[in-house]
Amino acid sequence: MRTRGKGRIGYILQAINIIPLIAFGILILLLGTHWFTRAMYSEVEQDLRNVSCSLITMLDALHPGDFRLVGDVAYELYKGEHNLTGNYELIDDIKEDTGLDITLFYQDTRVLTTIKDKDGQRIIGSGAPEAVIRDVLEAGNSRFYTDTIIYGTSYFSYYVPLYNQDGSAVGMLFVGKPSANVEEAVQTSIYPLIYTDIILILIVLVFTFLYMRKFASCLMEIHGFLREVSTGNMNASLNAKILKRSDELGEIAVSALNMQRSLRTLVDRDALTSLSNRRSGDIRLRKTIEECTRNNAPFCVAIGDIDFFKRVNDTYGHECGDQVLKDVSALLRQHMRGKGFVARWGGEEFLLVFERTDLEEAYLSLTQLLENIRALEVKYNEHSIRITMTFGVTPGSSSDVKELLRNADEKLYEGKDGGRNTVVK
Ligand code: GH3
Ligand code: MG
Ligand code: MG
Repeated sequence: MRTRGKGRIGYILQAINIIPLIAFGILILLLGTHWFTRAMYSEVEQDLRNVSCSLITMLDALHPGDFRLVGDVAYELYKGEHNLTGNYELIDDIKEDTGLDITLFYQDTRVLTTIKDKDGQRIIGSGAPEAVIRDVLEAGNSRFYTDTIIYGTSYFSYYVPLYNQDGSAVGMLFVGKPSANVEEAVQTSIYPLIYTDIILILIVLVFTFLYMRKFASCLMEIHGFLREVSTGNMNASLNAKILKRSDELGEIAVSALNMQRSLRTLVDRDALTSLSNRRSGDIRLRKTIEECTRNNAPFCVAIGDIDFFKRVNDTYGHECGDQVLKDVSALLRQHMRGKGFVARWGGEEFLLVFERTDLEEAYLSLTQLLENIRALEVKYNEHSIRITMTFGVTPGSSSDVKELLRNADEKLYEGKDGGRNTVVK
């Protein structure tokens, strides 16, 4: 059984990765937008300042001399000998070239302007905003404003005080750009930044999400495997993909699998001979019965017992007896390779199961095996011990395990009673 899903740890891992990532993305977005907007504003300021400087230089070059008002009732503004009043050619040309609005103030009153009201009339004669009069005209400073409202329209504006040669402030020059135009330019430039940021964050999010999901699902898979093993399921399996991982998770999975193998060995194997123990032999026998019955294949069950084994112990000691058991087991295992399996059934008693083998074949095989056992010399210290065995073999059937074993046992005791060192079928 495998544990599906991410488990609680999966959600925690996702959260601790994804939340800071999103926060970071938002921060980058806010800082980026702020920084970009400031940069655009300062670019606009620079533009406005440059145009205002150029215009003043141009006016001085074209019409040298001071600004002055001429007339009694209908005043006209002169620059040197040139009448500026009503002469819009220069500022209209600049507006056409740069898209910027221009106003020339005499003191705080608009004398020339490119700005028109909703009826299309230039808004000459109107006054400058109070803050501008204070900061620029009175204090004599050039100023940049980001929110000058002129006839209901918001402007980014740059005001420069105008002086005559004697240093007296005569008016101001306004150069402005409608805020809507600036905002539009900011947005046009900032959208790609926002999209790029969002796309990058999304890509990182997707990769993080996928990696974390895989990580968590591996963790849950290992968790499920260990839970199965802890309940005694020695056949629980682990996904090969996890075992192939080169990170610590892969190592944990391999260790878990090795642990299962070690446990299986402890549970299934006999410690002295490394053969299957009785418990495991019993399970394997049942499996063989099931498989051979299903496939309609013959099989045989034999029980072998070492003759007069007690004498070995009594004569050479228990340790020597152990050595005999080990050597005999090795021989049995080797003999049964490809034929079926052998298990240590009791002290010096072995279960041999011949798969896909009929009684005659099993009998012949056991006879050969007995020959080999007779020929076996177990070396212990300076001693060389020879033994014999007795086997009882019975053909398999779908009948129950106990009956099969009883039949094999009966044959074995027939052999014992008949003088041992024999195979009885
Ligand atoms: P038989 O021919 O009738 O089978 O005689 P036997 O002496 O082989 O049988 P018996 O049942 O009298 O004695 C079996 C002996 O095997 C007794 C026991 O101490 C010994 N034995 C069982 N398990 C082990 C073991 O793991 N190591 C050793 N050294 N001896 C063992
Ligand atoms: Mg015996
Ligand atoms: Mg015995």
